[in-house]
Amino acid sequence: MIDEGYIKFDSRWRQTEPLHNSEIDLLNRWRRPLYDAGLIGYYEEQGIGFGNLSVRISPEGRFIISATQTGHVRNAGAEHYALVEDFDIEQNRVFSHGALEASSESLTHAALYSLDSRIGAVVHVHSEKLWTALKDTVPTTRADVSYGTPEMAREFDRLWRESDFPETGIAVMAGHASGLVSIGRDLQEASERILALDAKFAD
Ligand SMILES: [Zn+2]
Repeated sequence: MIDEGYIKFDSRWRQTEPLHNSEIDLLNRWRRPLYDAGLIGYYEEQGIGFGNLSVRISPEGRFIISATQTGHVRNAGAEHYALVEDFDIEQNRVFSHGALEASSESLTHAALYSLDSRIGAVVHVHSEKLWTALKDTVPTTRADVSYGTPEMAREFDRLWRESDFPETGIAVMAGHASGLVSIGRDLQEASERILALDAKFAD
């Protein structure tokens, strides 16, 4: 079974109207090329969406993230995003609201925003090609740690302190098949980093 798409943390989600935040347009602007490159999408056989992106909206780490199981959507709208109001990594808990529930990778995004207030955007993609090519070459989280857990948060903290992850902004999740993350000052930087790698390894 693919370890993907289901929420492992205590998700306190409040269903509301679609979000009205101005960042939605920017999220869609950068989601599109990621979707077209197949870095965000849908495993048809299993019926599971993959990949997500988020943008910070406050210094404390509130962020807007694509909602769970939206990977099949090409033209996303405000209804496909959720706002993470608060989180507690040690308690494994995420508080969000929106028309759909926040992504199952929200805790991973929260952990990344917690590393440094200058991280303004996080992109999580799936690419078997990049994962295979870059695992253990670029900063890589341990193979026995899966997504959406407090252990993964601690792994990113380790990479932040011990590798060039703060400069390059790219990491491979060895314990999450095909999973990579890209961070940046803003959505453009985080998205372009992973799109550039995808172009570089195109065959
Ligand atoms: Zn994933």
